[in-house]
Amino acid sequence: MEEHLTADFEEACFLVDLSNVVRRQDLGEPGLRSLRRLALVVDAAVALARDPDVKLYLVADRSLRLGGRHEFTDPADVRLLAKWVRTGLVEEVGDADERVLELCEMTGIPVITGDRYRGAREDFPFLQGNTDDFLEPVPGPGGTVRLVPLDMEVASPAQISRKSEEDVLKKQGLLDPRRRPRSEVVLRNWRCPDRRCTAYDTRKGSLVLLPRMHRGVPTCEQHGLELVDDGPRTATAQVKLLVDGRVKARFTLEDGSTVRIGRAPGDGGIALHGLLPGDLAARVSRGHVELRVAGGAVRAKDVSSFGTRWRATAGKSGPGPWHDLPQDASRDLRAGDELELTEGVVLVRSARRFPAELAQEWQRRTPPSGEEPEAVTRMY
Ligand SMILES: [Zn+2]
Repeated sequence: MEEHLTADFEEACFLVDLSNVVRRQDLGEPGLRSLRRLALVVDAAVALARDPDVKLYLVADRSLRLGGRHEFTDPADVRLLAKWVRTGLVEEVGDADERVLELCEMTGIPVITGDRYRGAREDFPFLQGNTDDFLEPVPGPGGTVRLVPLDMEVASPAQISRKSEEDVLKKQGLLDPRRRPRSEVVLRNWRCPDRRCTAYDTRKGSLVLLPRMHRGVPTCEQHGLELVDDGPRTATAQVKLLVDGRVKARFTLEDGSTVRIGRAPGDGGIALHGLLPGDLAARVSRGHVELRVAGGAVRAKDVSSFGTRWRATAGKSGPGPWHDLPQDASRDLRAGDELELTEGVVLVRSARRFPAELAQEWQRRTPPSGEEPEAVTRMY
């Protein structure tokens, strides 16, 4: 199971509210707490994402491990949890709800949970009426688990305040006059006052971390310093390359850019020839598909010789039917939508709104295009 856990947002497909999953007595087996339920959720996530290497980012309350160890059916679970916390595979915090919601709002990575977070609606207005960001594990056939989209509905003020009262102690000390909405935090660039620190800098390094909120203020994880506002953040879109169902590369595109993707699309394009086995590369056109990013939306157009197929999100209700991608017009490519360049070569638009990878980073790491591998003899 460990190979499916990650401490790196860049890799994570799902966030998991671990305490909620471990305590779900309708899943898997009887008993108050069991990690076996997480294993079933991992299987469900593999099936849903159709990615055998799918990675999950786990967040847990400290009380899961320390506050009720006798409640675990298998005492070995407690030792395993402790190891995962030590090695960073579980982020253990005082209030997992708040951290899970903070991460979801910042990254757009969907959360696996059965919790409706009614008491958190004032702090996290994006919860109200949300049908996109939450997946609930429910019992499936033969002792399996399925993940189904969770409709968070609009909680009434009465429901919110009743639940908030229970959470009021948790929140004490967290409110601060400088506190900003997280949705605002993620739309800005941030810089650590320590001059050597590049963790959040969008002009240095290749990755940018999401600020950790400390008492409502974006804070450097490494130096504990308040981050400095560094101007508005440009929207980006991320596309994943899947080869035979496995993620082979990710490309982050800058807002306002038009990019061709293909075997060898030339200057400014994303060349796939080095990433595909020869037989597959030969079936991809030099320039195969064109993506245009504007205002956070992505439009896709076929520019190939033999066509590109498109289908709607494979995310929550399973993939839709394949359609031909038009050549004379472009169509909307939404999060989770797939483009098939040839059988076994698929581009997927990532749900990530703000990927950790800097925009156009691929331009710095892809070898210069134009050089064709020997094996490719067919020209389109
Ligand atoms: Zn720093």
